Amino acid sequence: MSRYQRQQLVENLRKKGISDEKVLEAIGTIEREKFIPPTMIHNAYKDIALPIGFEQTISQPYTVAFMTEKLNVKKGDKVLEVGTGSGYQAAILAFLGAQVYSIEINLELYHRTVKLFDKLGIRVHAKYGDGTIGWAEYAPFNGIIVTAGSPTIPTKLKEQLVIGGKLVIPVGGRDYQDLYVLTKISDDEFKTEVYHRFAFVPLLGKEGWEKK
Ligand code: SAM
Repeated sequence: MSRYQRQQLVENLRKKGISDEKVLEAIGTIEREKFIPPTMIHNAYKDIALPIGFEQTISQPYTVAFMTEKLNVKKGDKVLEVGTGSGYQAAILAFLGAQVYSIEINLELYHRTVKLFDKLGIRVHAKYGDGTIGWAEYAPFNGIIVTAGSPTIPTKLKEQLVIGGKLVIPVGGRDYQDLYVLTKISDDEFKTEVYHRFAFVPLLGKEGWEKK
């Protein structure tokens, strides 16, 4: 049943413009129902964000697919994710063959998701902390994906990218943001593409928003 629902979701995302076959295969394979609370299972394959507790969400599948497509992950790439949340985005990146480094600022959510990674046998280097300062120990990264909305583009994340690497990050107000895709051309030059109107929970921390 859930395999059929995943295929329906894949077709839905294709119609909405997602065309990277590897990304579609990942969405068609990873069991989203494993990353959400049991009470939400009937909504697992709807193209909507869902609450995961602690006032946080698992992003809408379209958003996950769009951001992953823009990140252009290749097998073996070292990818930093800021905002582990449910672990679903990290699982998609791992499926694509990336070495995933993921940071979560909510301690309880971090513990819960690390346990889930272990249970599902998904290899993610996870850390509790503020992802706006990146993860210097493992930098530079081929790609960085930020899954919460930021007021600005954190400087450390730009620094921790390889030349040619991509940073995908929602930037804007607390409620709505535009998605920025930066490609690092040289140490201080970036090519920027902007995609309008996304809605993420706020990125907290040193270069993010203050906790309310
Ligand atoms: N990638 C997640 C998924 O697949 O479920 C999306 C989770 S949610 C949209 C964003 C997450 O970012 C939340 O879990 C939140 O606690 C976390 N977050 C917010 N600010 C952060 C920061 N500075 N560093 C790390 N995580 C942060």
